[in-house]
Amino acid sequence: MHFNETLKNIKTYEAGKPIELVVREFGIDPKNIVKLASNENPYGVSTKVQEAVASRVHEMYMYPDDSMHELKERLGKHFDVDSKNIIIGSGSDQVIEFAIHAKANKDNAILINSVTFAMYEIYAKQVGTKIIRTSSREHNLDEFYELYQKEHPALIFLCTPNNPTGDAIDKSALMHFLDKIDSDTLVVVDGAYMEYAAYKNASKHVTPKELLQKYDNVLYLGTFSKAYGLGGMRVGYGIASRKIIQALYKLRPPFNVTTLSLTAAQAALEDQEFVQSSIEKNFQQMRRYEEFAAKKCIEIIPSYTNFVTFLLKNNNSSTDVSHNLLKKGIIVRDLSSYNLNAIRITVGTPKQNDRLFEELDKLI
Ligand SMILES: *Cc1c(COP(=O)(O)O)cnc(C)c1O
Repeated sequence: MHFNETLKNIKTYEAGKPIELVVREFGIDPKNIVKLASNENPYGVSTKVQEAVASRVHEMYMYPDDSMHELKERLGKHFDVDSKNIIIGSGSDQVIEFAIHAKANKDNAILINSVTFAMYEIYAKQVGTKIIRTSSREHNLDEFYELYQKEHPALIFLCTPNNPTGDAIDKSALMHFLDKIDSDTLVVVDGAYMEYAAYKNASKHVTPKELLQKYDNVLYLGTFSKAYGLGGMRVGYGIASRKIIQALYKLRPPFNVTTLSLTAAQAALEDQEFVQSSIEKNFQQMRRYEEFAAKKCIEIIPSYTNFVTFLLKNNNSSTDVSHNLLKKGIIVRDLSSYNLNAIRITVGTPKQNDRLFEELDKLI
């Protein structure tokens, strides 16, 4: 059977290996598996969220509230923006998909960082648009601007903090860059890890409110999958001018977020104590990663997220190291597909990190 030409160039997205796969492949007891590959919150789900979801299990025979009124109201309050400026997606992934399908096509282009979140490229290839990449590993806004002037992309993605490198753009530099971009170019600011950056350094903290106040052409993305501990529920959001939100709404399938997911997100947003304590522990544990890297003379990119990227030296292949960890039941992310000899590790709980360092110490 023939499929659309555009599918030919698409590599299927490789998600972090699920625990089930490691259990089957290596016969390891699921209790002994340490999953540090998908940047989930290792401290799990707040008990308040679990209770809220449990209380609505009996409602699952009905379609969800398609207006998503309650979650939009609470997000609006949280960010001090109007709920009409918000769209909810099945993960912020889905909002990325809407944005690309709304703006990109085979006659224009998108501009992304050389190393960044893989889904931008995958959705772009679905619509056959040209993909322009910078050359610097970390976001270099001068280079972004040069390429913007030269190539006139329809869409620019800025991922801050960036996945899979962990670096973040300074807010003042970001605003200065946005000042120079014309109003017909959609700029997506992907803040999947913004809660972490905000905690670590206020100069990296970009809020949707200030973007919305100044720019009609900027779409801010956030997610409940990382700091909020809801990776399994698939809830993300986009915040932008009414015009952008209305365009994205035309691409949204009905009932794209389930009742239980909406309930979980609402309750998670209310339990800021859980989120903040997870973030605090994250950065306490991250110090151990920095110490480990220093001891082993491994280069580490300063991280504003809940993961750390170790840039390995030539005598250690990231593919070998991650495979050998996997055999011990520890799942990390090999970044060789990004042309980096590096591994990305989600900062785990103290116990998970003990296990990781014990094994990694033997391998590096
Ligand atoms: C995890 C992640 C997302 C999307 O997560 P969802 O689970 O789809 O909400 C978006 N952008 C980046 C950079 C991410 O790391």
